[in-house]
Amino acid sequence: STSDLPVGRALRQYQEARHLEALKLQTAARNSTQWFEEIEPLGTQGGTLHLRAQSRVHRDYLRRQCADAFSDAARNASGHLLSVMFLGPDEQVPVQGPVAASTRIDENDILHGDVLTLNPDYGLDTFVEGPGNRYAFAAAQAVARNPGKSYNPLFIHGGFGLGKTHLLQGVCLALREDNPDIRILYLSCEAFVTHFTEAIRAGQMLQFRHWFRDVDVLVIDDIHFLSAKEGSQEEFFHTFNTLYQQDRQIILSSDAMPEAIPDLEERLVSRFKWGLVTEISPPDYETRVAILKMKARLRGMSLPDDVCAYIASRTERNIRELESAIKRLHLYAATLERPIDLDLCAEALGDLTYEQSPGGPTIQTILNTVTDFYNVRLSDLQSRKRQRSIALPRQVCMYLARRHTMHSLQEIGGFLGGRDHTTVMHAVRAIEERREKDTQLQSVLATLESRLNASE
Ligand code: ADP
Ligand code: MG
Repeated sequence: STSDLPVGRALRQYQEARHLEALKLQTAARNSTQWFEEIEPLGTQGGTLHLRAQSRVHRDYLRRQCADAFSDAARNASGHLLSVMFLGPDEQVPVQGPVAASTRIDENDILHGDVLTLNPDYGLDTFVEGPGNRYAFAAAQAVARNPGKSYNPLFIHGGFGLGKTHLLQGVCLALREDNPDIRILYLSCEAFVTHFTEAIRAGQMLQFRHWFRDVDVLVIDDIHFLSAKEGSQEEFFHTFNTLYQQDRQIILSSDAMPEAIPDLEERLVSRFKWGLVTEISPPDYETRVAILKMKARLRGMSLPDDVCAYIASRTERNIRELESAIKRLHLYAATLERPIDLDLCAEALGDLTYEQSPGGPTIQTILNTVTDFYNVRLSDLQSRKRQRSIALPRQVCMYLARRHTMHSLQEIGGFLGGRDHTTVMHAVRAIEERREKDTQLQSVLATLESRLNASE
């Protein structure tokens, strides 16, 4: 057992620290997956603690997402200033521990080009199939078997939290497992746009083009972010053509089907439809139960059937809610050292309005109250429509959700049609500023807030 070694303690403290942090933030803990247990301590050398991860994907994930937390934990557990270095399965402990090894990025990463780290838990084998995602899942599997030859491009669209990113990463993980040397570039569209803008500013378009066009597989998440970005659209058009002509696989995800992405050049819309366009819709009850069980298994928890039913019947909107429910249960069970049963479930999740500030309204209540008040439809708020009669209630929703719930900016954007966090931030600021001087808005907000209070 490693539990008596400093690193065993470090790992435990690390997880405890995460629990505390989660409690403090009143929000779900970040991933704490079972494979943490499988990290193998190799001992310390020259102030560096070496830990072996079970695969390169795990190693990369740990380096990028967990290095600081592990170093802190190792420091606390040992009382020494230790830095942590994660090694892959076939890597040797270096003769002399390099400085700041834990944050060093492997040259291979640049060669292999991941801009976003792949999450080892987002495999195709942990993706639960259901009626809402059947076609998208089948297409992803086909592409993973035969990149460039089955569907090109593969275009997956659907609402927030329905598994698009998971599927995209699943394909990347499967491809890499089959062929460790395959050159996959996986990144968010936002990153594409940022890199493009920076490359232009730095006069490095040549390198940029090499980077993007010299790959076997290009995967871009949330491509709708190209909306109204003409320069980036133009560049992506050429990237797309270059790759497509060489039968290189292109995989895209979006919150809307190609023709529904606003301000997107027609030639891109038509190219996005050349391969397969497939939609993910929200999961039904059985699928939600199956996903819950899968997520629990990844955390090494076992969920009794009645607990599963309780959660699945109360979370319908998206799968992120299921995940936060599991995380919260995990946290309660670990902190209170109690078994996971309906009692604990009720305590931990209440009526599943757990992401509200204590005693505050849920985002659902906010959306209902605002749409009632302004007499608009939720679907309008979630649409791209920009007229004032819709834009104002939408901003008011964002503002109220920010003030009265614990949802992150990104989550609030998700509830309002998959808008990004900067949009939400601007909306919140705009309403805050107007509230100061606009007496009419003051009274509207006061009315809405008193209705929210009354609705509890
Ligand atoms: P999106 O990119 O569509 O917003 P994500 O891929 O980020 O959604 O999914 C949100 C969460 O739900 C992730 O933790 C993901 O693993 C999980 N999830 C979604 N669909 C499934 C599924 N069919 N099986 C297992 N997990 C899923
Ligand atoms: Mg996503």
